[in-house]
Amino acid sequence: MSAFPYETRRNHEMLRKYHSMRFQPLYSTRKPLIIKHKQANYWSATCYNTIGEMFQTTIAKESFAEGVGLHTGVYGHIRLVPAPAETGIVFRRVDLDNFHIEAQGHNVARVSYATSLMKQGVLLSTTEHVLAAIYSCGIDNIYIDIDSIEVPILDGSAEPFMQMLEHSGVRKLRRKRRYLKLLKPLEVTEGDRRIGIYPADEFRVRCYVDFPHPLVGQQEVEMLVGPDTFRHLLARARTFCFERDIEPLKAMGLIRGGSLENAIVLTNDGVMNGPLRFPDEFGRHKALDLIGDLALAGLPLLARVEAHKAGHALHTQLVSRLLDDPSLWTITTGEAALPESEAYLTALSPVPAAD
Ligand SMILES: [Zn+2]
Repeated sequence: MSAFPYETRRNHEMLRKYHSMRFQPLYSTRKPLIIKHKQANYWSATCYNTIGEMFQTTIAKESFAEGVGLHTGVYGHIRLVPAPAETGIVFRRVDLDNFHIEAQGHNVARVSYATSLMKQGVLLSTTEHVLAAIYSCGIDNIYIDIDSIEVPILDGSAEPFMQMLEHSGVRKLRRKRRYLKLLKPLEVTEGDRRIGIYPADEFRVRCYVDFPHPLVGQQEVEMLVGPDTFRHLLARARTFCFERDIEPLKAMGLIRGGSLENAIVLTNDGVMNGPLRFPDEFGRHKALDLIGDLALAGLPLLARVEAHKAGHALHTQLVSRLLDDPSLWTITTGEAALPESEAYLTALSPVPAAD
C-alpha cells in the first residue's frame, strides 16, 4: 500500500484545471481535490480584488470560540468584540484584568514556531491565524478577548476565525482609514531565506516555500490580499509539522496541544492525517502566516511583500525594522498622503471614536 493513502494525480494539466476552478462558489469547502505534488511542481495563484476602502471598520457584534492552544495545551476562550475608531487590533487578557496587548510590532516577544506578543511581562502566543483573518478582512478596530496564554488553535487554519468574522459582520465607522504606504524597499536576509517589502498601490503578497518532501517541494502563492482572496485561497489551509520533529518539539515544551485534529502531520513520504484540503496546503498556510505577521504593522499596508523560504522570525524582523524607520513609509488616507510628521503623530495619539 502506498504511504499516501489516496488516489493521486501528478499531472500538471490537473493542477491548472484545479486552480482555474477555485473561484467557483463553495467549491473549496465542498470537494477538496487531492493531488500529490512532485518535488518539481511549481505553480502560482494570482487573483484580484479591490482595495481602497475609505472608512475604518469594526465588527457589528461579538462572536466566540474556544479550544486548546497548540503550543501550551492550555484550554481557552476567544471572543471578538467591536471597538471604536482608532483602537486598532488589540488583544485583551480577560483573565488578567483586561490587560491590553496591541497587535503591533513593538510587542513581538519571541518567535519560533508561532508568533508571540508580550507587553510588561504578559504573554500571548500564536497570534498569527486570527490576525491573518482580521487583517485580510479589512477590520481596523477590534478587541480580541482571550482568557489564557495562547489563542486557541481550533482546526489549525484561519477558517474558524473567518466564520467568527462572518457571524460578527462588518460595521463602518465615520473615521477615515489610514494606510501605511511604502516609499522605499526594505529587505531582510538570513542565508538563503529572505523577505522584502516594496512600494505598491495595493496590498499584495508572494510567498515561496521549498521543503524537501514529496508532498511539498516548491510551492508559491501570489495574490492581492482581501477578504475574498483570503477566504478562497488561504483561510482553510492548516498548519503542519513533520512527524520526525514531534518528539524534539515536545521535548522543548512545544506543541503540547498538538493533535491530528489541528495540524497536518507529514511522514517521510506522505501525510498521516489526510486528506489535504488543497494539494499545496503547505504553501498556502505559509502565506496565511505571513499575512498574520504583517498585521503587526498596525495599519493596512499599501505594499508588496515577497517572502522566500521565510518564517515568523523573518516576518516579524521585517515589520520591526519597517516601523523603526519612518523614512521608508508614509501614512495616507488613501486619497492623498498627509504630511509625514503629522500623520505619524496621528498614528501615535488615539482619539475618541466618532461613534
Ligand atoms: Zn500557522
